[in-house]
Amino acid sequence: MKLRIGFHVSIAGSIDRAVDNALALNCTAFQIFTRNPRGWKSKPLDEVEVNRFKEKLLKSKIDVNDICAHMPYLPNLASPKEDQYNKSLQILIDEVKRCDTLGIRYLVVHLGSHLGSGIENGMKRLVDACLKARDLSKTIILLENMAGQKNSIGSSFEELRMLLDMLNDDRFGVCFDTCHAFAAGYDVRMIDSILEEFDNKVGFRNIKIVHLNDSKSDLKHNSDRHEHIGLGYIGEEGFRNILHSRLNTLPLILETPIDERRDDKDNLNKVLELLK
Ligand SMILES: [Zn+2]
Ligand SMILES: [Zn+2]
Repeated sequence: MKLRIGFHVSIAGSIDRAVDNALALNCTAFQIFTRNPRGWKSKPLDEVEVNRFKEKLLKSKIDVNDICAHMPYLPNLASPKEDQYNKSLQILIDEVKRCDTLGIRYLVVHLGSHLGSGIENGMKRLVDACLKARDLSKTIILLENMAGQKNSIGSSFEELRMLLDMLNDDRFGVCFDTCHAFAAGYDVRMIDSILEEFDNKVGFRNIKIVHLNDSKSDLKHNSDRHEHIGLGYIGEEGFRNILHSRLNTLPLILETPIDERRDDKDNLNKVLELLK
């Protein structure tokens, strides 16, 4: 199996630039936001840009199954607040339709915070939203395991299983984030036993995308802070194990920082070195 790996790439300027950016980094997989991730409002997709995106993707030889879009940051699909929930649902619906337009199969979704209203309430709101979005598009929604921040949903394998049961449709899957799993208390440095547990509780086949991030915080600290590959608490040995596990059969997306220590190319080189 050929390694499929890449980054979250920018769409700045025009959405088709994402493919150029991915190719410039030698990506064989990539992730984008289809819009500004930090606002509630978005501009409609431009038809010319959409066509260029599709053409470039086709020419790139990057498989459509190895790319994904990520939901913007503001929506909270588990919110008990009517106004925030409705706005969040609207964005989810908008995003799945944008994925359809772009020919992107997978949309990665954060599972939200119940804000104290209780895990069951939050899960029900989230599931209702996902089912509405499913009925309006062909997009496969991937539930991303969370780091376990206060009131967050879906940081445990049990909760992911519950959500998939409630959704009860192959049109949903999982995006497995190594940093989030570690933050939530799963010691991914010993990835084989974690994946065995995941397989028993959730099912390995449900993972469609992997977010490959090291963690700036220690095991079970419940904080979502990404670090360069090998420079965080998961560390080089941890990533050597991860990169030699079954996860390497899936598209690997790095959401690592860019700073004076390393850029994207450096992180890709580190991954390739650890894979040897
Ligand atoms: Zn995410
Ligand atoms: Zn994260």
